[in-house]
Amino acid sequence: MINYTDRLTLLVHDIVRRVQTLSFIDVADVLVFARFGRSNAEGAFATCHCLTLPPSDPGYYFWRDRVSGRITRRSEWFVTKSPVVTIGPRRIKYLISFTLPRFCDQSLLHSRKERFYRRASDAWIAKLDTVIHELYHIDPEQTGIRRLETSDGKYSAQCHTPQFFAQVADMVSEYLDSRPEPQAYDFLKHDFDALSAKHGGIVATSFRTFPSYPQRFVERLAIQPPCEADAEGVEVEPWRPSAHRPLYTADDLHVRQFTRAASRRKVREGQFRAA
Ligand SMILES: [Zn+2]
Repeated sequence: MINYTDRLTLLVHDIVRRVQTLSFIDVADVLVFARFGRSNAEGAFATCHCLTLPPSDPGYYFWRDRVSGRITRRSEWFVTKSPVVTIGPRRIKYLISFTLPRFCDQSLLHSRKERFYRRASDAWIAKLDTVIHELYHIDPEQTGIRRLETSDGKYSAQCHTPQFFAQVADMVSEYLDSRPEPQAYDFLKHDFDALSAKHGGIVATSFRTFPSYPQRFVERLAIQPPCEADAEGVEVEPWRPSAHRPLYTADDLHVRQFTRAASRRKVREGQFRAA
């Protein structure tokens, strides 16, 4: 079977070697993993998740009485934090998730990328565009998602500007013009069914907590500061621990087989054979 996330990781290595704008990326800072998403459903093909954002300022949730507008109830103070993901001694800075089988089945037709590519029949370029798009979200300062300048030189509130899409298309051309080995990107040329048939199946790395993965989580402040609202006799909710974990290591990764309808953990052959 083909391991799709392994192939994507090798492709990422090749792209950052050949595309000047992305050459600051150390691939060891980036972990590629797969999520499940149907091809015929709306949703992202891929997402760049930043793990380097600092904790939020302390805060709390509160509820108001509808009539009086008075705060009646609040949570305890908490901060929102990024989880720590380590592979060996190395702390990962960015996760890039690819949605299977949806990512494999995307095409340029009717997409906002179509106008950037002359050879619109080369549908697989949409996938290369997505890989470069997600890499371009990595901030050179590594403190979050890349901030974008608008045409008047100010920072945009959005992380997708028209220039962003055009710059990604330029990097796709730069990569292809550098004459990469076809074996680096050939796997993108097949849709999910064709690739699955060619290799006898598609597997990919995911987190054992599937479908969950490392995400920002809330942590109760050990020392609860005084709160203005409490003077009014506000009820403080008991703390419910977050479902998201603070720490992930390589032991939290596993390989899953993806099909068009579902995904399941890939059990190594012979693992359950009687002794
Ligand atoms: Zn994006």
